[in-house]
Amino acid sequence: MRVRLLRYTADPELLCGAAALTSSRSGNPSEILDGIDLEKARQTIRRVTGYGHMSVIEHASFTFSIEEVSRALTHQLVRHRIASYTQQSQRYVTYDTLKKYVTPPTIAQNTEAKKIFDETLESISATYNRLLEMGIPKEDARYILPNAAKTNIVVTMNARELRHFFNLRCCTRSQWELREVATEMLRQVKKVAPSLFENAGPTCVELGFCPEGKMKPQECNIEEIKRRFKSL
Ligand SMILES: Cc1cc2nc3c(=O)[nH]c(=O)nc-3n(C[C@H](O)[C@H](O)[C@H](O)COP(=O)(O)OP(=O)(O)OC[C@H]3O[C@@H](n4cnc5c(N)ncnc54)[C@H](O)[C@@H]3O)c2cc1C
Repeated sequence: MRVRLLRYTADPELLCGAAALTSSRSGNPSEILDGIDLEKARQTIRRVTGYGHMSVIEHASFTFSIEEVSRALTHQLVRHRIASYTQQSQRYVTYDTLKKYVTPPTIAQNTEAKKIFDETLESISATYNRLLEMGIPKEDARYILPNAAKTNIVVTMNARELRHFFNLRCCTRSQWELREVATEMLRQVKKVAPSLFENAGPTCVELGFCPEGKMKPQECNIEEIKRRFKSL
């Protein structure tokens, strides 16, 4: 799995800070942006988002390349609708099943499970290649490919949607592969726009309590999780 922040809105904190001040100042937004410094922008973002007025951080967008992840992951990722996606196509790219699949740690650590997992993938690979040799188009041969198949996807989200995504997908309840990707995305955006992602992370980090009720995983220690995400 690899995550790389490819591009993001220039001066995201200055822009969102200036947008926030537009509501309460008489000057026009371009003058406000020209006059604002980073400290004032951050202070404004903290104040306004502290009221729950989150729309001001929608002005900053972040584009990631998420590489060599499973199709199981991307299927969950694309459920987040306030985002843009472009994914590697199994219609156009010939798939090398034996080289390109994700093995979950629970399977990798279990010799017997790993053996049957690998054997099945070898069989899938043989069938896929045989279908192509028979002249079956890639778009139809791919029906045999598994959720473990690796893929690449580009995703763009604005800061508000990213925070919502982190609430759900950095949570211990989230599936492990997507949780790792979401946590790495958060680590990278915090570096470039700290005030937009202050207290970002699973819902418990933001709200101070777990909303999962009886679904809350037993291993969760909210104080420890808060410490971990604050120091990310
Ligand atoms: C732990 C976990 C388990 C899950 N299990 C399942 C499962 O078993 N089955 C399953 O199908 N899914 C499951 N999901 C996916 C989940 O139901 C959501 O589809 C996914 O997390 C996207 O969240 P969202 O809809 O809040 O966010 P986004 O699509 O990212 O949207 C962000 C917010 O925008 C607003 N919004 C977006 N679109 C609309 C709309 N059309 N109408 C009104 N408001 C809108 C909502 O406020 C929404 O919260 C699971 C997710 C998690 C985190």
